[in-house]
Amino acid sequence: MTLLMTERFTGNFTQQDPIPEEAIAAAVEVMRHGRIHRYNLAGDEQGDTALLEQEFAQIMGAKYCLAVASGGYALATALRAIGVGQGDKVLTNAFTLAPVPGAIASVGGTPIYVGVTEDLTIDLEDLAAKAQDAKVLMLSHMRGHLCDMDRLMEICTAAGVTVIEDCAHTMGASWNGTLSGRHGLIGCYSCQTYKHVNSGEGGLLITDDAEVAARAIMLSGSYMLYSRHLAAPEPEVFERVKYDTPNISGRMDNLRAAILRPQLRDLNTQVDRWNERYRTLEAGLRDTPGLTVIERPEAEVYVGSSIQFLLLDWSPEAVQEVLTRCGARGVELKWFGVPEPVAFTSRYDSWRYAPAQSLPDSDRILAGIIDMRVPLTFSLEDCALIARIIRAEVSAVWQAQGADG
Ligand SMILES: *Cc1c(COP(=O)(O)O)cnc(C)c1O
Repeated sequence: MTLLMTERFTGNFTQQDPIPEEAIAAAVEVMRHGRIHRYNLAGDEQGDTALLEQEFAQIMGAKYCLAVASGGYALATALRAIGVGQGDKVLTNAFTLAPVPGAIASVGGTPIYVGVTEDLTIDLEDLAAKAQDAKVLMLSHMRGHLCDMDRLMEICTAAGVTVIEDCAHTMGASWNGTLSGRHGLIGCYSCQTYKHVNSGEGGLLITDDAEVAARAIMLSGSYMLYSRHLAAPEPEVFERVKYDTPNISGRMDNLRAAILRPQLRDLNTQVDRWNERYRTLEAGLRDTPGLTVIERPEAEVYVGSSIQFLLLDWSPEAVQEVLTRCGARGVELKWFGVPEPVAFTSRYDSWRYAPAQSLPDSDRILAGIIDMRVPLTFSLEDCALIARIIRAEVSAVWQAQGADG
C-alpha cells in the first residue's frame, strides 16, 4: 500500500520521438544543395515540398494538396479560399484550441460556438439549431474525437453549410471507413511537433475542389509558379483566379518537407503505437469511482496521441486537488475548466475578440475535462504506471469528498 502510494513517474510529457534517421539524411541532403525554398529547383527536379503534397494527396485519396507554414495558416487559407471575409459568421466548436477561432478572426470572421457533448464531440443538436446562422462550419476534431460524421454531413448539407475540417489531432483517423479530412470540402492538418508528424511547424490542406485548390495555392504565395506543383489543378483553373487572389505568404519549405516525407510513410505504425499506449491508459483508468472514461464509438478509428477523462460535476477545488496530487507524483494533467488560459489550454470565454456566448451545458462538461498528452517516448509500462497514479489520486480525493458529505 505504502509502496503504491509513493510510486512516481519521472518521464517527460512533452518529449516526442526523435526525427527518424532517414528523415535526418533527407534534411541534410537539402541543406547540402541549399535549395530550401520550394520553388528553387535545379533542372527537372521536383522538390521535396511538391513531392510531399503529391504523396499526402495520394495517402488521403484527395485530388489536390497544398503544404503550408502551419496548421493555423492552413485553416485561415481554407476560409479565404472559399471567400469567408469581414463580418461573416463561422460555426465552430466551443471545445477546441485557440488557433481555430484565431483563424476565423484572422479573416475578419465571427466565431459562433457549437457546444460539446460528454463524448467530447460537437453537439449535433446544437449544430442543427445553429446551422441556419452561418454558411460555414470549421469543425475541429478536438483531441481526436470524431462525432457521427455521417449525421454531421447530413445536417450541414441540408442547411447549405460548407464544412472545413480541422484535423490537427486526426491525421490517420477515420469514421466509418472514410479518412478524417475527407468528409468536408477541405481538410487541414498540422505538422507541428505535438501532432502526428513533426517538422517543428507546418501544415497541409487537401480538397477535391479545383477552384478552392487553385485559390489556396495562390494565397499561400505561389506567385505565378503554380505549375511547379504536383498535386494542383490544371493551369486553366489558375487562369480564372490568379488576378483576384492575393499572395499571403505562408509556404512550406523543402527542409521541412524532406523531414515529413519519411514520417508520413511511417504514419500507420505510429498510429498503432499511440493506440497501444492509449488502450493501456484507458484500461488502467476504467472503473475508477468518480471518473468518466470517454467511450470510443465502433465507427471511429482514432489516434490516441492524447487521452481525456471527465471528473463530471466535481467541485473546482477537488479537481485542482487531483491535479496537484498527480503533479506531485510526476503526472502532468491539463484541465479545460481552469478559468484563466494556461500554456496551450484555453476556453471559449477567453477568446474575447469574439462576441460573448453562453453555453451552460458545455460549461458543465468543460469544467470536468482532464487532458493528458501521450508522447510515443512513453513505454506501455509508463502508461500503466501513470494510470495507477491517476486512479489512486482520483480515488483518494473522491473518497475525501464523500466523507465531507
Ligand atoms: C495545433 C492545432 C492547430 C493549429 O496548428 P499549428 O500548426 O500549431 O498552427 C489547430 N487546431 C488544433 C485543434 C490544434 O491542436
